[in-house]
Amino acid sequence: MRKARIARILTGDEVGARFTVEGWVRTKRESKGGFSFIEVNDGSCLRNLQVVAEKGLPYYQEEVLKLQTGSSVRISGTVAASPAKGQQVELRAESVEVLGRSDPDAYPLQKKRHSFEFLRTIAHLRPRTNTFGAVARVRNALSFAVHKFFQERGFIYVHTPIITGSDCEGAGAMFRVTSLDLDSVPLAEGRVDFSRDFFGGPANLTVSGQLEAEVYALALRDVYTFGPTFRAENSNTPRHLAEFWMVEPEMAFCALDGNVELATDFLKYLFSYVLYYCREDMDFFRRFIDPSCVERLENIIAAEFERLTYTDAVRILSESKESFEFPVEWGVDIQSEHERYLCERVFQRPVVLTDYPKVIKPFYMKVNRDGRTVRAMDVLVPKIGEIIGGSQREDDYDTLLERMNESGINPDAYWWYLELRKFGSAPHSGFGLGFERLVQFVSGMSNIRDVIPFPRTPGNVSF
Ligand code: ATP
Ligand code: MN
Repeated sequence: MRKARIARILTGDEVGARFTVEGWVRTKRESKGGFSFIEVNDGSCLRNLQVVAEKGLPYYQEEVLKLQTGSSVRISGTVAASPAKGQQVELRAESVEVLGRSDPDAYPLQKKRHSFEFLRTIAHLRPRTNTFGAVARVRNALSFAVHKFFQERGFIYVHTPIITGSDCEGAGAMFRVTSLDLDSVPLAEGRVDFSRDFFGGPANLTVSGQLEAEVYALALRDVYTFGPTFRAENSNTPRHLAEFWMVEPEMAFCALDGNVELATDFLKYLFSYVLYYCREDMDFFRRFIDPSCVERLENIIAAEFERLTYTDAVRILSESKESFEFPVEWGVDIQSEHERYLCERVFQRPVVLTDYPKVIKPFYMKVNRDGRTVRAMDVLVPKIGEIIGGSQREDDYDTLLERMNESGINPDAYWWYLELRKFGSAPHSGFGLGFERLVQFVSGMSNIRDVIPFPRTPGNVSF
């Protein structure tokens, strides 16, 4: 018999067809009339398939009656219109085969709702819950939409390296990569001798693919990278991971305005995509996770993003009567409480903040004519704060060199990055979108640890 994913059967277009399905039992109950109702889920969609198994089936006693929540099954049968309320179709079983049993007393997933904290301790089983199934499907759809958006616009997907020789990419603390025996590290003049390490010098996990993406942008114009990035910052917040995925477009012959425009179009595209293709999962998030998540996306799709400079934002914040935990003052980085205040209270829509003081931004951002601010842009959204960070890049050789020296960065280590400003330099811009922040924003999930399959955070690398 033909195999089908449950999502296909539940479209309702297959009544009368015979199929084999495979999946995991969510629940089972016996009816007085001498048959069993088995709810099966295979992850292809949120809903379960109801299977009706009559007691006349082969092995009914041995197999069906002993089926437990969590068992894996292979069931063949005919799709029929369902007399039950709330579902269009069901599967009338002709054979039920148990592939893997599951002891119901030991199985950690019970019918009641479990806390997300508890589910993190069973990351190997949590994808079998409604919430984590929905997160996985939405994450998948968003990844695909990221590629679709850029491919439709002619961007080239570039694979930037995960291991990097630079020890500062301007975006946060790094993890060291080494194959040295840490119990007997080779020393030279009292310090670790990295010349005897695998790469012949110190190496780290990347915090961003930007610098390498710039190389390709200055050859192929519009490129993007989408891959894992790592930050060793000890941020125990619901918005930070030590390992997260980042989407980083980079465009040559593009100034800050074009960058803002791309970021805006990109977010609207992703939100429209997920509302259209993940309707059932989004409806689940609306009902069980965050009642306003769908409406919020719809509003953003329709909204003009507010654009203002950092300087104006600081003025608005310091004139506000709100008491913030962190005081605001020109030259100090604004915190997520300020970002949220601007989006949620002042403008009630996403805000693009530009032209930050250079002292709080990395060396590669283009310095404005005022000499004090850089062409940075952060896209802020309600609930999350910063979801995108980007800038026009410094394309002038001398200014870049000066900024490196000012920021305590060794120009020798970045000779190739500097050289791009010597041979055919061009205005170019790009940004980074934290992929998990995106999934969080879309789903309304409050902790970033619950939107990545296996979260890595300070003190936690299980699974
Ligand atoms: P934040 O101030 O929130 O720590 P950042 O300024 O360090 O962010 P960028 O270096 O601009 O962030 O990185 C680009 C994007 O990557 C951010 O806008 C955010 O969406 C995401 N991001 C940054 N750090 C993390 C992290 N530790 N975990 C998950 N996503 C992150
Ligand atoms: Mn950070």
